[in-house]
Amino acid sequence: MNRYDVSIRGSGIVGKALALSLAKLGLQIALSRPSVPPGEDVRAYALSAKSVELLRALKVWDGLPPLAATAVYDMRVEGDAGSVAALEFSAWEQGVGELAWIVDAAALEASLAQAVRFQAHITEVDAPVTAALVAVCEGKASTEREVRGVEWQRHGYGQTAIAARLVADQPHRGVARQWFRSPDVLALLPFDRPEAGHSYGLVWSLPEARAEALMALDEPGFTQALQDAVGASAGTLRLASARAAWPLALAQASRWSGAGWVLLGDAAHVVHPLAGQGLNLGLADVEVLARVLRERETWRSVGDEKLLRRYERERAAPTWAMGRVTDGLLQLFAVESGPVRELRNRGLTLVNQLAPLKRWLTGRALDS
Ligand SMILES: Cc1cc2nc3c(=O)[nH]c(=O)nc-3n(C[C@H](O)[C@H](O)[C@H](O)COP(=O)(O)OP(=O)(O)OC[C@H]3O[C@@H](n4cnc5c(N)ncnc54)[C@H](O)[C@@H]3O)c2cc1C
Repeated sequence: MNRYDVSIRGSGIVGKALALSLAKLGLQIALSRPSVPPGEDVRAYALSAKSVELLRALKVWDGLPPLAATAVYDMRVEGDAGSVAALEFSAWEQGVGELAWIVDAAALEASLAQAVRFQAHITEVDAPVTAALVAVCEGKASTEREVRGVEWQRHGYGQTAIAARLVADQPHRGVARQWFRSPDVLALLPFDRPEAGHSYGLVWSLPEARAEALMALDEPGFTQALQDAVGASAGTLRLASARAAWPLALAQASRWSGAGWVLLGDAAHVVHPLAGQGLNLGLADVEVLARVLRERETWRSVGDEKLLRRYERERAAPTWAMGRVTDGLLQLFAVESGPVRELRNRGLTLVNQLAPLKRWLTGRALDS
């Protein structure tokens, strides 16, 4: 007889959130302890209302230290350089308290780790253990996924994302800014660390060779290139952290589940960070798997293949759709031809004027 009901392999944000969610159901959980402790993460994640709701229910959100999460009240998306096209969203116009939250990646990991330590149903283990269900949360380079013979369908973008923390001389006022500047996509996410009201999380996606050149620049050189790219609308910017870089791809596992195993988070799917949805999708996986296990027939084991297919059916389609949307946006804004540039900039302006369409788009982003 197994001592554990569920063995969770990978204890990133998705793995820890799953451990807490399933422990609440009274299941005995073995959670793999990281072989190396998480290093410094300069990223600030954009989280949807639904993700924050899950983290609140797990008593993780309220455990965040002061200034680790910042509300986004407005969002401004700009088109190609030289065009006046822009799309603006506001929480007030959409009738919601905030459009999203920007949260410190390292603080969120730490708050989850703290909650895990206090949960009696979770045991941290150094080696894989047997259990009725193995939940694979090992991220995009998962080895356990490979062991299960799952095909990993990956399309590399030939792009790299550079992330860093910035401080501006002007207040951010809770406004997130994004520029689609073919082929670059650049986002400034309002944040309160290191300086309350004046900080931003930077995510700058661009072709690999240029990203490498930008990473090699010294601090003044990088800051100048950034300022040239975004202009003066956010004020004068300075770097407030090291820079880190990630290769970008669209990827999805051919199967997400089988008898006694299931994939979640980046181990199941990876999307371009332009819409800030990767972790939101992973937390939605957690929410759905926990519900499917909670509502199972009493005679079904947590590793029952048919049960796990319910989870896969519910999650695979919306995840695939989000992948297509981010990919479509990226391809649309990568085209250099004049007529396409004109059309996409007009498209932004048109969407901006259509209140119901904007409400629908915001609803999708809040709900993922
Ligand atoms: C630049 C950038 C910005 C982003 N911004 C956003 C955003 O704003 N909003 C958003 O929602 N998403 C964002 N994302 C996506 C987000 O980072 C990922 O979707 C999320 O981190 C995935 O979490 P995870 O727990 O599934 O995987 P990971 O974070 O990769 O965690 C996997 C864990 O498993 C461990 N592990 C790996 N292999 C093994 C093994 N063999 N055995 C045991 N443990 C193992 C690893 O050490 C790690 O702890 C961004 C991504 C990038 C690159």
